[in-house]
Amino acid sequence: MTATLLDGKALAATIEASLRDEVDAVTTASGRPPRLVVVLVGDVAASASYVTAKARAAARVGIDAEVVRAPGSADTAALVGLVRGIARGDQGAVDGILVQLPLPRQVDTTAVLDAVPADLDVDGFHPENAGLLSQGRPRFIPCTAAGVQRLLVDAGIPTAGRRAVIVGRSDIVGKPLALLLASRGRGGDATVTLCHSHTQDLAEHCRSADILVAAVGQPGLITADMVRPGATVIDVGINRVEGSEGSRLVGDVDFAAVSAVAGAITPVPGGVGPLTVAMLLANTLLAAELRIGRR
Ligand code: NAD
Repeated sequence: MTATLLDGKALAATIEASLRDEVDAVTTASGRPPRLVVVLVGDVAASASYVTAKARAAARVGIDAEVVRAPGSADTAALVGLVRGIARGDQGAVDGILVQLPLPRQVDTTAVLDAVPADLDVDGFHPENAGLLSQGRPRFIPCTAAGVQRLLVDAGIPTAGRRAVIVGRSDIVGKPLALLLASRGRGGDATVTLCHSHTQDLAEHCRSADILVAAVGQPGLITADMVRPGATVIDVGINRVEGSEGSRLVGDVDFAAVSAVAGAITPVPGGVGPLTVAMLLANTLLAAELRIGRR
């Protein structure tokens, strides 16, 4: 079997096109475009390139995005102060704040993320937004998890009553995705297993999956013998590996071998990544709409 490729890049372009009119409507209604501030700390090349991609995508749909930089030597107090200042509007009115992760080692990431007020938390990491999601009444859903669900729905892959196995239990990806796929309604109602670094018999869990999601950060973790023939495989992982022709990005899935077994699969790059960005734009629009009472 050769798996169908789930083209996240194409879907993200479609989502962007559909957001443009709504952004225009909000801009007209509120007298200014929705505004996103992205905080970039230090000079990690990967983080800088993600931030650039987010700012460019925002511009394409008419969202005003600003990147605020802080030195890699910044401590927790400085970053908490910076985020609070942005939230107060010291740098102009704002609808959404995103703190690009990871933060430098000396920084308490939770403290910095907690400084983002819940109504500006377009990443969906604030305890209030995490709580709303866990209760099945989401406001801002973490972008990658929302993107994976959107991809499944768009591809017509049924989730209701299906077995979904997620490998990786981070607060950012695995945990919110488990909540989403187990929640009631479209793109949900799955029976979800959440695997992690202490899971025994990982391969056996994976083989039981109708939908297998890898979100670990370990190249080659998911091999062909771990995939049930015809299963849908979603590769969230992004890993830079060195090869004979320089470095390239790969996911957590052995793409070549797994494509021969799976029914559908996401590529890396071009799968989940672009959808993460599209969902960030959707969350920023939602924040602006909530601010002016349109939602
Ligand atoms: P994380 O490091 O916070 O979490 C990794 C998870 O994997 C942990 O829950 C851990 O228990 C689990 N794990 C580690 N080793 C394991 C093993 N051998 N078997 C089973 N589980 C194991 O990572 P994260 O922030 O959730 O990111 C995961 C990956 O997804 C990374 O490669 C990251 O770059 C990528 N990512 C991609 C996007 C995107 O837009 N495509 C967005 C966010 C993260």
